[in-house]
Amino acid sequence: MSYVSHLVCTNCGKTYPAAPEALTCPVCGPEAGILDVVYDYEGIAKLDLRSRLARDKDPSIWRYSPLLPVTEGLPRPPLRVGGTPLYAAERLGAQLGGPTGSRLGLRRLQIKDDGLNPTGSLKDRASIIAVAKAGEAGAGVVACASTGNAASSLAGNAAAVGLRSCIFVPGRAPQGKVAQLRIYGATVISVQGSYRDAFELSQQAINRWGWYNRNAALNPYLVEGKKTVSLEIAEQSRWEVPDWVVFSVGDGCTIAGGWKGFFDLYRAGVTDRMPRLLGVQAEGANPISRAFHGGGPVQPTGEDTIADSIAVGVPRNPQKALRAVRESGGEMVDVSDEDIREAMRLLGSTTGVFGEPAGAAGLAGLKKLVGSGGIGPDERVVLVVTGNGLKDAANAIAAAGEPIRIGADLGRLEQALGGSGLV
Ligand SMILES: *Cc1c(COP(=O)(O)O)cnc(C)c1O
Ligand SMILES: [Zn+2]
Repeated sequence: MSYVSHLVCTNCGKTYPAAPEALTCPVCGPEAGILDVVYDYEGIAKLDLRSRLARDKDPSIWRYSPLLPVTEGLPRPPLRVGGTPLYAAERLGAQLGGPTGSRLGLRRLQIKDDGLNPTGSLKDRASIIAVAKAGEAGAGVVACASTGNAASSLAGNAAAVGLRSCIFVPGRAPQGKVAQLRIYGATVISVQGSYRDAFELSQQAINRWGWYNRNAALNPYLVEGKKTVSLEIAEQSRWEVPDWVVFSVGDGCTIAGGWKGFFDLYRAGVTDRMPRLLGVQAEGANPISRAFHGGGPVQPTGEDTIADSIAVGVPRNPQKALRAVRESGGEMVDVSDEDIREAMRLLGSTTGVFGEPAGAAGLAGLKKLVGSGGIGPDERVVLVVTGNGLKDAANAIAAAGEPIRIGADLGRLEQALGGSGLV
């Protein structure tokens, strides 16, 4: 039995039964009428989830099935999504520094490396649910518009069950991500325009041909997949919820999902508190953080950043994201592309974790907030690295520089290594 009770409109509060294809509130329309999945929390509380999970050997997100909107007894898509490591990061924490003058850093920083999902990003957590729901709905084709990772994860998870996918990407999507799509056998439409243009065209095509819609904000089940990152963080922390959890923010679905995971655990009595959230946007694409600080409605911005996965000028889920950060007593920070490049180097060289620009943007924001004293040295912080650096080799080289090029000559080598501290 599934523990989903119903869907509720985040705008008007009307409730709906949880059909596999239910997407947005018909009263409020697709822009405002974003739905939330509500569970039978009393029923879940009776399950004794903690001991049930302690016995469960499945490392994937399916270990959390009672908290997921999937029908029991149906086959699960097979890629191993979730079960990503949570690493202690003392050396990185020590390098973050405190307010000017002090060097306190963070003593209890941890990194959740979600770049280790099957297609290389946290988006796999949502896409595997989309593929499961498409199966329940009897769809033959799944579709989405994406800056890259939603698309590659959908294409990979669809391929794993023999489902066809049609993907709309903006012209600027990095090659590594487009390459993944093609190898997974997706039909790829590179829309010569912005992410918004790609999104609009995908919606028209989905309406016209009845494909299954994986556009994250419009499909309430996807946030449920993304929330598994928080279920894992809580379980890997022996159910001690951290003080802060850090996410980079584009459309806002990831941070909203992160919040929902902690909320569901709290509501079901599995944990006893909620974390604060730090949302990080790029200076060149920061509509949600502007609304957070300005208090007004969300206004479109440009999409000018190397972090393509969060280059979203017209976010699709700003309300859920704003609500999550505000309810958490959290904060939003903007970072420059130079901050992001520095964070990529710092993350890689102190932890061995290679993040794509949007994957390291969270660190850039965390560094700023620690530097201004917004997070104290003894607070426990989990930084979610949302995507793998190999997806965007061009920006990694731009961040870290070229290798030392010499002929095969030891004398030359010694010369070249002068000042490096290696010799
Ligand atoms: C999608 C994505 C994000 C942001 O998620 P949103 O739901 O768009 O806010 C951050 N990092 C990576 C690597 C992503 O792919
Ligand atoms: Zn509504």
